[in-house]
Amino acid sequence: MTSTVLVTGGAGYIGSHTCLRLLECGYRVIVLDNFSNSSPEALNRVQSLTGKTLEIITGDVNDGAALNTLFARHQIDAVVHFAGLKAVGESVAEPLMYYHNNVSGAVSLLQAMQSAGVRDLVFSSSATVYGDPASLPITEDFPTSTTNPYGRSKLMIEEMLRDLYRSDASWNLALLRYFNPVGAHPSGQIGEDPAGIPNNLLPYIAQVAVGRREHLSVFGGDYETHDGTGVRDYIHVMDLAEGHVKALQWLTRKQGLAAFNLGTGSGYSVLDMLHAFERACGKTLAYQIVDRRPGDVGSCYADPTLAARELDWKAERGVNAMCADAWRWQQQNPNGYN
Ligand code: NAD
Ligand code: UDP
Repeated sequence: MTSTVLVTGGAGYIGSHTCLRLLECGYRVIVLDNFSNSSPEALNRVQSLTGKTLEIITGDVNDGAALNTLFARHQIDAVVHFAGLKAVGESVAEPLMYYHNNVSGAVSLLQAMQSAGVRDLVFSSSATVYGDPASLPITEDFPTSTTNPYGRSKLMIEEMLRDLYRSDASWNLALLRYFNPVGAHPSGQIGEDPAGIPNNLLPYIAQVAVGRREHLSVFGGDYETHDGTGVRDYIHVMDLAEGHVKALQWLTRKQGLAAFNLGTGSGYSVLDMLHAFERACGKTLAYQIVDRRPGDVGSCYADPTLAARELDWKAERGVNAMCADAWRWQQQNPNGYN
């Protein structure tokens, strides 16, 4: 029997790659997105790449009435919840917008799922919930903490999901803690399309490579890492997309709530990534070491053992593929989807 999955935020960066993979795996996919940080063009391309059709609903996860109608009209088996805002700096300036979009949005979605009797959810959490980890690599039982409203919104939703599960064990909940998603579909047709000046490292480097920005500012050269620059666990977005398929399969096998790290288990520094990108694009890229960015941690990488054991999932792609695919997307779409 074909499963039908509602993907909130499915037009976004991770959502579009996941929709593509879900269609390839034979799922029927309904996308709910308000396009506040994405373009419908991403979904057009997902359909042309797969030769399959998505149902696309323009709407907001905070619109409870629209959600009830959606669940009444469609027999939905599971929900993958990406919809939300994700810029740390913006969350500090506009905390209410973040709590409304992310936390209230999740409450409204869960209420509609509850009324409709839909109990299977995959939730986009983040490695940001680990704060500044006391040791590395990070396992799922590490203490959680966070320093900004974005991170707190993710932690609040995680706590809310735990309370929900305690109240009713028929819920089936996978909390996926992503490390640093990068890269693009190997076709170069879908990828990350940040609005304005990119906050994240890889899109910034890609814009330096394509000539849109002069140089990369490296935030901090005095961390306790092999070259002094910050270390992260970069994960290819196609591996992440596969992780969602595996989490949906896990939900059909198991009953319960669990959090999983989705990372590679390897840490790379800012300069490692810059040099990997230089190899991918065949150019030397300008950079300057500047002050640390407030709130950044020195090093962060996953222990992905639990996901390997429980989800049968493992990241397959390395930094060279991440940079080559990000570069292909950037070159073919120098101005993103516009
Ligand atoms: P994105 O901004 O590209 O995608 C989010 C999508 O949700 C967009 O299409 C946006 O239009 C939509 N959206 C936002 N608010 C909505 C609302 N109220 N109703 C309906 N649609 C709404 O972000 P992404 O990078 O694809 O991230 C997806 C999820 O993963 C987010 O929840 C994010 O917090 C989480 N996450 C992302 C990263 C990362 O580095 N990209 C890391 C960890 C966790
Ligand atoms: N970074 C940087 N310059 C930039 C953007 C990011 O040096 O313009 C560094 C940042 O300090 C961190 C790493 O790159 O060490 C990854 O940052 P990103 O914002 O992509 O992800 P984060 O791990 O902070 O969520």
